[in-house]
Amino acid sequence: MASKHTKALKPGYQHWITKHASHNCGVGTTLVEWQHQEEDQCPRCGQPEDTNHVMRCAGAGATERWTEQMNVLSEWMTEANTHPLLQDTLLANLQRWRQGLPPVTIHAAPRIQQMLFSMSDPSFTSSFRVP
Ligand SMILES: [Zn+2]
Repeated sequence: MASKHTKALKPGYQHWITKHASHNCGVGTTLVEWQHQEEDQCPRCGQPEDTNHVMRCAGAGATERWTEQMNVLSEWMTEANTHPLLQDTLLANLQRWRQGLPPVTIHAAPRIQQMLFSMSDPSFTSSFRVP
């Protein structure tokens, strides 16, 4: 069952999120599990490739692609009149996630702090999981 957040996305994105979150897509570990190939290495860096690795890979070209997409997100948030402090916090925490670091959960601005607190609630992250 899709959450109200995923239902707001275009069908192609809903499909991608479902496949990515459930690991049912063409990444190395899944292709090995499905017996479509024998090795699970990332073609860019040689590390085991699961869905998280696809987003965190530091192999040739991956960081540039990540940076391009972060710029697209930043521009979109600006066009959508997202509060600059919220933009900075979200982008910083996405960078931290990619680096394997824990998110920043404390902020001086009360509304940003409230958002960070809300995001730390397990019911928030469960809305992105596939049952
Ligand atoms: Zn890689």
